[in-house]
Amino acid sequence: MKKRNLDPNHQKLINQRDLQNDKPEEACGVFAVYAPKEDVSRLAYFGLHALQHRGQESAGIAVGDGKSIFVVKDMGLVPQVFDERSLAGLQGHIALGHVRYSTTGSTRWENAQPVHKTFDEGTLALAHNGNLVNSKHLKEMLQRNGSFFNSTSDTEVIADLIASFVGDGSVEKAVVQTMNLLEGAFAVAMITEKALYAFRDAQGLRPMCIGKLKNGSYVISSETCGLDIIGAKFVDEVKPGELVKVSKKGLSRRQVLEPKPSLCVFEFIYFARPDSNLLDKNLYAARKKMGVLLAKEAPVKADLVIGVPDSGVPAAIGFAEESGLPYGEGLIKNRYIGRTFIQPSQTIREVGIKMKLNPLASVINGKRIIVVDDSIVRGNTTKKIIGLLRDAGAKEIHVRISSPPYKYPCFYGIDTASIDNLIASENSIEEIAKKIKAETLNYLSLDSLIKSTGSSKNKFCHACLTGDYPVKIPSELRVSKLMLEKSPSN
Ligand code: SF4
Repeated sequence: MKKRNLDPNHQKLINQRDLQNDKPEEACGVFAVYAPKEDVSRLAYFGLHALQHRGQESAGIAVGDGKSIFVVKDMGLVPQVFDERSLAGLQGHIALGHVRYSTTGSTRWENAQPVHKTFDEGTLALAHNGNLVNSKHLKEMLQRNGSFFNSTSDTEVIADLIASFVGDGSVEKAVVQTMNLLEGAFAVAMITEKALYAFRDAQGLRPMCIGKLKNGSYVISSETCGLDIIGAKFVDEVKPGELVKVSKKGLSRRQVLEPKPSLCVFEFIYFARPDSNLLDKNLYAARKKMGVLLAKEAPVKADLVIGVPDSGVPAAIGFAEESGLPYGEGLIKNRYIGRTFIQPSQTIREVGIKMKLNPLASVINGKRIIVVDDSIVRGNTTKKIIGLLRDAGAKEIHVRISSPPYKYPCFYGIDTASIDNLIASENSIEEIAKKIKAETLNYLSLDSLIKSTGSSKNKFCHACLTGDYPVKIPSELRVSKLMLEKSPSN
C-alpha cells in the first residue's frame, strides 16, 4: 500500500473542509466489479470518476486475483491518486473502489478506504458508505477481545467484525452475523480473493445498485451514473437489508434483515448526480418537478429565474417553466477550482464565494431575480450569493428553496455538525430571509418534495427536515449533536 506525506497546506485545507460550502457534506461513493476477462482496476477507476461528487478527500482501489488482494489508496481526487503505473500494478478479476468524504473519523490517510483485513483463511478489503450509530459500542467490544484499530472510521469496525466471525464458518455467514449487529447506515461492498459481496442496512439509507456488463459480469455502484460510464446496464437496487454475492457461480441474493425502507431523501434533493436514477426515477426529472411545485406553492412577480449551480439548476428550470418567466444563467461556476489546489491563505478566504461563483452582471443588472437553490444549511453561502447578486445590480432578490427547512442534524453519514449550526433550527422563515438579506424566502413543502420523487413518504428518511429518525440514536450521540441535556430519556 502506498502512503504519502501530505504537503502541510493540503492537510490544512482538508482540515478546514471547504472554504464556503453550505451544503450537507456528502458521504462516500462505492464501486465494485467482478469481471474475470476485463481490466477491472480500470473499470473501477472510471466508476470512481463518475462517483467523485460523493467524496473528494481520498480514493482507493483494491483488486483480488484469486490468491491475494492488492490495495492502492491515498488522499486526493481519483486522478491524483491513480496513474497508468498504479493501475497497471492492480491486476486481478475483482475490484473494489471507494471515494471518501470524511464523516465519522478524521481526515487522515489511515481512514482512506478500502480497508484491508487478514483472517485465518484469507484477506478481505471493504468499503463503506454511511455512518453507524453503534460503532463505539462495537469497537469497545472488539477491543476487549483483542482487536487493534489503525483508523478512527466505522469501516474498520465492520471489517474487523467480519474477520473475527470468519473463524466460525464461511465469509457469507460472517457477513450475515455482522449485518445483524450493525445499527445505522451501511451500504458496503467487500471483496475477498475470490468473491464480491455487497450489503445494505435494513433502511437502505444510502443508495447502492447492481449492474451488468455486456459480457454478463456484475458491477456494484453507489449510483447508476457509475454503471453508465462503463456501459453496464442497471439490474436492480441492492434491496434494504439484502446481501448480494458474486463469485464464479454467478450472482446470488439473500434477504438478511427485515426491510424497513427509508432512503435518504437528500439523495433526491442534492447528493446524487442528476443523471442517476433512484427508486425508478431520474433525479434530474425529480428536481425539475420540485421546481415546478415550488413555483405553484410560492409564486412571486419577477423578471428572471436563476439557479445556484449546479444543484439548484434543474429546480430553477422547473420553476421558470411553471411560472412562465425566463430562465437565465445569472451565476457562472468556476468548475476548475479543485479544492486540493486552493491555498488557504487569508487573501483567498476573503475572496470567499467568488472563487466558485461569479455573477453575470449583464444578465442581472436592474432585474427582479428569483434565485432557486436546493437547500440552506448554515445560511452563510446563501447570504454571500445574495450579496454578489446585489453588487451585480439586482433590483430585488427572491430566494426559493426546493426542499423544506433543514432543521435537525444527520446521524447517518451526512456531515452537518450540531443543531446550533443549522439556521432553520432556531429561526423562522421570515428571520432567515432577514439574515440572508433576501426580499422574500420560501421553501418547498414536504408533501410536494415527496410528490416529486414519485414515491411515498414512508419510503424515505426525512429526519433532518422533520426530526423523525428511522434508526434510534444512542443517547451520547443525541446529546452531542442535538445539544440536549443528558437525561435517562435521552
Ligand atoms: S437525516 Fe437527512 S441527510 Fe441524514 S439520512 Fe436522513 S434525510 Fe438523509
